[in-house]
Amino acid sequence: MIVGVLVAAALLPPLPAPAQLPTLGDGSEMTVSAERRMGARIARELYRDPDYLDDPVVAEYIQGIWQPLLASARTRGELTPEMDLGFAWEILLGRDPTVNAFALPGGYLGVHLGLVGLVSNRDELASVLAHELSHVTQRHISRLTSQQSKIAPWMFGAMILGALVLGRNADAGNAMIAGGQALAIQSQLNFSRDMEREADRIGYGVMTQAGFDPRGFVTMFDKLQQAARLNDTGSFPYLRTHPTTTERIADMQSRQELAARPVAAPPTMVHAMMAARARALSITAVDALRSRVAEAGLPGLATQLPSRQAAVLYAAVLAQDKQRDFVAARALLARLVSVTSADPAAARLTRLLSAEVALDSGEPQRVATLVDPQATTRPDVMLTAQAGLRTGHARDVAQQLQTWVARDPRDATAWQLLSEAYAAQGLALRSIRASAEAQVALLDYAAAVDRFKAAQDLVRKGGDVDHIEASIIDTRVREVELLLREQALER
Ligand SMILES: [Zn+2]
Repeated sequence: MIVGVLVAAALLPPLPAPAQLPTLGDGSEMTVSAERRMGARIARELYRDPDYLDDPVVAEYIQGIWQPLLASARTRGELTPEMDLGFAWEILLGRDPTVNAFALPGGYLGVHLGLVGLVSNRDELASVLAHELSHVTQRHISRLTSQQSKIAPWMFGAMILGALVLGRNADAGNAMIAGGQALAIQSQLNFSRDMEREADRIGYGVMTQAGFDPRGFVTMFDKLQQAARLNDTGSFPYLRTHPTTTERIADMQSRQELAARPVAAPPTMVHAMMAARARALSITAVDALRSRVAEAGLPGLATQLPSRQAAVLYAAVLAQDKQRDFVAARALLARLVSVTSADPAAARLTRLLSAEVALDSGEPQRVATLVDPQATTRPDVMLTAQAGLRTGHARDVAQQLQTWVARDPRDATAWQLLSEAYAAQGLALRSIRASAEAQVALLDYAAAVDRFKAAQDLVRKGGDVDHIEASIIDTRVREVELLLREQALER
């Protein structure tokens, strides 16, 4: 479907080159709410993509960088209260091993695991996120759409989706549309050079004010430049949208002087483990999994930096877990425990990984000994819930997750687990509603309405006499039907 729309877009005549970048504060034509709705339609497709990944551990790590950046942009006044409330500020993680991050309309941000796996420290990741964040706060996307008034907003959204598909599979894209047309589309979606420089400038201010090391900005740029010299756009799709132009290089050199010693800060153990997780999660080939395991068996490993040892062992545990060799995974975990024991944050990541292996190996009862059941951090809550469902504690799980979704109703995974917890207790109506709410969280309003209606049918047939729940469902179906109509009107 995405591909079909893309071909239609390719048949449009190329548009004239975008006009000069309007000055800051210039009225952009698209309102915050219209841009959010456009972004939501794109995000809905990405959520459905088999590559989309809700990994609570990596997501928590990224949020630990993203939230300080948002706070900094708020303090600096770039993130206005209107945008703060109106945009989603949501990061969608993709399993893709290539290096990419992209700002979508409405404050949705796409991040490939390949980027997390590549960066040497959190400052480098912060520099990319701050740059993308600044594209959003400077309303670059709405300025792009207003420059192209000939294109309906829904078509613009479809073009962005099409470009994302192209970015993933360049060969298929080239076969589908002639090179010139593809370039014409890409150039209409690309931010101008001035916008890129503005995102660099503002992003640099945002990340340094948030307390990140400015060297991260410089060393990340060096990485991109190096890849550009090798013409490595296959594994660095970020380079296609972010060419290291001479202007950007000059800007960067002046920043380099500000940030003395442009050498990457050494990775913390936590970063090394999270980058290793990102790399391992994006692996599908058995050969690659095996080589992760082999690395952990090399004799020189014990002489390497502790952060390096932790990364190698972490990846090897995940690789063995994926190959379902749990005996080997546990042996590697024992080594990881001793390497990470001196660093509390790293030791926690090791415990979370142990809990994951315990779940996968069919020992859910061990999870409670590894993860604090009272913890309120997301990876712990999700692991505890999964374990609770398999050890007959559905009532406790439901209680904990009710509190969780009340605080964060956009957590689709939590709604889905809550649905399972209700089903395990024979609460059919509540289970269907929670599963409908999971679809709302994934922005699939049509699927949500279907489920709400199934719940109403159940009430009509007298299958469930939970009157309070039935009235909540009646209200929710009306609300979500309204959202669905709004979504349909924009087409
Ligand atoms: Zn950019």
